[in-house]
Amino acid sequence: MTKHTINTLLFALNVGVLVLFFRSSDHFFLFLFLAFGFFFLVLSAGVLFLRFNYFMKSIVTIDKPAVLLTFDDGPNPETTPMILDTLNKHDVKAIFFVIGKKALAHPEIVQRMLHEGHRIGNHTFSHHPMFALLSGKKVKNEIQQLQTVLDIHAIQTELFRPPIGYSNPIIARVVKDLGVKVIGWNQRSYDTVVKNPMKLAKRLVRLSKPGSIILLHDNLVQSRDSLDSYLSKAKEKGIIFANEQHLIRITNEIN
Ligand SMILES: [Zn+2]
Repeated sequence: MTKHTINTLLFALNVGVLVLFFRSSDHFFLFLFLAFGFFFLVLSAGVLFLRFNYFMKSIVTIDKPAVLLTFDDGPNPETTPMILDTLNKHDVKAIFFVIGKKALAHPEIVQRMLHEGHRIGNHTFSHHPMFALLSGKKVKNEIQQLQTVLDIHAIQTELFRPPIGYSNPIIARVVKDLGVKVIGWNQRSYDTVVKNPMKLAKRLVRLSKPGSIILLHDNLVQSRDSLDSYLSKAKEKGIIFANEQHLIRITNEIN
């Protein structure tokens, strides 16, 4: 039973109790308004925050003490190759949630990710800004179209991350139908907001706690420019990053 089912049942029960026992109360409509308000508040949080696992199960932590870096929205020829160089230098393996259109335009970078021991995840073909409002057919197409691009590289990926981390009952149903596994995060780098690489590096060190899955974007200059400093400082502090074994385990353990 999903959290959404539980919330819906509690809401229905709540409304039932209000109608049966409080319909004559002066505060009936206020109570009803509060019941609806609470239901939709929880529902909205479920749509916006993947880590609540509200509509579907997602992986948001990794085996302690490792820290897993995940990069979304690439590949980008200006930034991703240097990110790969830096990961190589520090012997860190990551998951890249690629966008289909970009993967199609830069197959050589996808090949590099694969050959250097990273995992490729599905971040949909077009990264539709209104992904949470798409029909089931369109959601399915977005995921399958990207898989078709990865087929060129003989990559079969079960790892999926919805754009913006959206989830809803339609996305949950497609995820179940296609048998893909959702990988979320428990630490948001805010690399879209923190533009100063040194500040971003410091923030990333702070976020790197045992079990962290960190959300980054490999299409951003500040993420590229902060990575070497971040990984050097983190390693000085004894922080352990995911290796190929961790990536194999995270793929096998889910569902
Ligand atoms: Zn994205």
